[in-house]
Amino acid sequence: MLYRVIDASELPSLVSAFMESYEVVAPVKRDRSYVFEAVESYHDIELGYDTTVSSPKKYFLPPTETLFPFDARAEEVASFAAEITPRVIFGAHACDINALNRLDLVFRDGRYPDPYYVARRAATLVVGVSCMPTDTCFCHLWGADEARFGYDLFLQDIGGKYLVSISSVEAANILEAACSPRVATDEDRIEFRHATRRRQEAFNGDIPDIQDVAMLMDAFHKDPYWEELGGRCLACTACSAVCPTCFCFDIQDTLDPDGRTGVRERTWDSCTSPQFAQVAGGHNFRADGRNRVRHRMYHKLNGFLANHDRMLCVGCGRCVTACKANINPIEVLEFFERKGACDAE
Ligand code: SF4
Ligand code: SF4
Repeated sequence: MLYRVIDASELPSLVSAFMESYEVVAPVKRDRSYVFEAVESYHDIELGYDTTVSSPKKYFLPPTETLFPFDARAEEVASFAAEITPRVIFGAHACDINALNRLDLVFRDGRYPDPYYVARRAATLVVGVSCMPTDTCFCHLWGADEARFGYDLFLQDIGGKYLVSISSVEAANILEAACSPRVATDEDRIEFRHATRRRQEAFNGDIPDIQDVAMLMDAFHKDPYWEELGGRCLACTACSAVCPTCFCFDIQDTLDPDGRTGVRERTWDSCTSPQFAQVAGGHNFRADGRNRVRHRMYHKLNGFLANHDRMLCVGCGRCVTACKANINPIEVLEFFERKGACDAE
């Protein structure tokens, strides 16, 4: 990894340089929240944002996308390539970069890479920025508070300057042309250490740190707790919509009025939707809230870990805010903390 230092005053030049060849997507303020949107100028960007309503996931896996058109008369699928916009995601937090790394495992690095996702990922530069945790952040519990890969540049704020971690030639060339990057001094490294420590000490200490949560979930699979938690679920699917790692989708064919031509589309789906596990013939193998919510939490904190050696939750806290029934991983951690307290009595 190559490290350089730039002044904060050089960021507008960096963004302008990106804009010459890319669409730049960055955090902007919308009412009382922040969202990722395409921006026209550096001055639209709120780099000191706390968290965004949803993550940049939609730029890699759009909520709805056409996979291909078809013509039943020709009995063949027309060749089709999705339009890919060269893009820079500017200002992603470490948790969102770690979420993207998990999506890579599913859509890019598996046996059957998804060509739509792979094309978007390859055409996108990711520029990360350091952050301070909110009360609902728990990324540190799963080691997602630092991004070690999956980005092109990462900007660590060290007080009026940024220590820039560089991991792609393309981004390095743009940085070099737009700014005056210099070699990090010992003072810069010490300030980096202080900034890291300030972040680590700012996490909400009331969130239980239960590292063996995956094993506990197996042990308490039949606990009545899941009935209680599932009974509260409104099946609104907001948790999946805001989650940077949820990747389930549905595929539907939409026919034109002629009944022969149409398009095959992919749309985000959610395991908390009552129809998610309904199959032909009407059987629903997760017909109640208990099974749906338990499945969601297991996939986040247990199942994905078994297959990919990391949680599918990056602790971004978005579902903590989005779920009006207070169903989220923190709630599950608190349940196991209570269980531990009871067992110890
Ligand atoms: S489950 Fe919740 S906290 Fe975990 S990554 Fe998804 S939205 Fe963030
Ligand atoms: S867990 Fe919460 S956010 Fe998710 S579907 Fe149920 S009520 Fe909605």
